[in-house]
Amino acid sequence: MAQAAGRNRRVVLYGNPVLRQRARPVRQFNDDLRRLMADLKTTMLTQDGLGLAANQIGEAVSVFALCPRGADEDREPYCVLNPVVVATEGRVEAEEGCLSLPAVYDYLPRPEFVRITGLDDSGREMTLEVHGLLARAVMHETDHLHGVLFIDHLGETRRRMLASRLKELEVREADAHGREDCQVSGGGEENRCA
Ligand SMILES: [Zn+2]
Repeated sequence: MAQAAGRNRRVVLYGNPVLRQRARPVRQFNDDLRRLMADLKTTMLTQDGLGLAANQIGEAVSVFALCPRGADEDREPYCVLNPVVVATEGRVEAEEGCLSLPAVYDYLPRPEFVRITGLDDSGREMTLEVHGLLARAVMHETDHLHGVLFIDHLGETRRRMLASRLKELEVREADAHGREDCQVSGGGEENRCA
């Protein structure tokens, strides 16, 4: 099957309500879904993300894209649909960021190993097992599809310290949301974002 070229879409920022929506499961494979998957992959690659959830480009649909090369694995970017985490092992503390929260980074424990089930880009049932950075990305993206952001896992004190930055992002998002052709946000320069 020919791979459709996706568009580089605007990644919505903290404050956009779509980031708090639970994504609806994919029920049928149609052109809209294929376009969404292509856009997700293109946007993720263009913005140097390790992963990207559909909510982040404004569609609360249960799909995320993953970029294994960002974790030094030689595999093309792919999408996972309707992911369900079925097993986790271990715990690793590492710094995490998010394309929807530019310039916000913090240390967060995540499982070292994750097994998820879901559908692949073609709609076939799949099981995915990933370690380390990709396990972190899979947990991060699955959280997005449940309306959860990585900062939700931080303690109260740390969140208070981030309050003014979050306020800035809310204002920026409200502004960008009002314009159709806003410029793409930065972020992910010194760190991998998802
Ligand atoms: Zn994210």
